Amino acid sequence: MKQWITDLLALQEVDLRIRGLRTRLSLIPGEIAKIEKEFENEKNKVTHSKETALSIELEIKKKESEIKEQNEQIRKYQTQSAMIKKNEEYRAMMNEIEGVKKKISGMETEQLVLMEKIETARNVFKTEEKIYKDRQTSIEDEKNELKELEGKINSEIEKQNSGREQLIANVPPGLLSIYTRLLGKKVGTPLAEVHQGICGNCHLKLTPQTSNSVRKGVQVHCDNCGHLLYTNEIAE
Ligand SMILES: [Zn+2]
Repeated sequence: MKQWITDLLALQEVDLRIRGLRTRLSLIPGEIAKIEKEFENEKNKVTHSKETALSIELEIKKKESEIKEQNEQIRKYQTQSAMIKKNEEYRAMMNEIEGVKKKISGMETEQLVLMEKIETARNVFKTEEKIYKDRQTSIEDEKNELKELEGKINSEIEKQNSGREQLIANVPPGLLSIYTRLLGKKVGTPLAEVHQGICGNCHLKLTPQTSNSVRKGVQVHCDNCGHLLYTNEIAE
C-alpha cells in the first residue's frame, strides 16, 4: 500500500472516531431536555391531583353549609307553625317542612358521594406525590450521568484531536485540503475502499480506467461521489 494511503487512513480513523464522538455529544442536550420534560409532566400531575382534591373539599364544605341552611329553614318553619291557628295553613306549613327534609336527604346523599370522591382524590394525590419525589432523586442521578458522559466525550475528542496534529503533518497539503473538504460533507468516508470495482462510499461501479488507477495506488476520485479511492486488491 502506498504511503499516502496509509497516512490518510490513519488520519481518517481518528477523524471518524471524532465524528462519532461529536454525534454522541450532540444527542446529550436533547436527552437532558427529555428527562426534564418528563419530570415537569410528573410535577404537573401532582399539582393537578392536588387541585382536584382541594376542589372536592370545597364542594363538601359548600354542601355542609347548604344542609345547615336548610336545617335552619326547618327550625324557622317550626317556630312559625306554632303560631298558626288555621288547620289549612298549618298543613301547608307541614308540607313545606316535608319538602325541605326531602331536599336535605338528597343533599346528604350527594355529600356521601363527595366523601367517596375525596377519598379517591387524596389517594391519587399521595401516589402522584410519591412518584414525583422518587423521580426527583433519580432525575438528578440521570442528569449527572449525562453530564459526566459529556465531559468524558469532550476530553476524548481533545485527546483524539491532539493525536490528529501529528497525523496531519504526514499528509501533503494538496491532498489534505481535498480530504478535509470530503470530511466536511459529514457523511461516508473521505477515503473509500474499492472492492471489485465498486466504490465503498457510494456503492456504485467505477469505470475500468478508474479501477485500474486505484489498483496502482494512484490518487484518483470516484467517478460518481468524488471521494478518494484506495484498494487492497493487487493490480493485474
Ligand atoms: Zn463513490
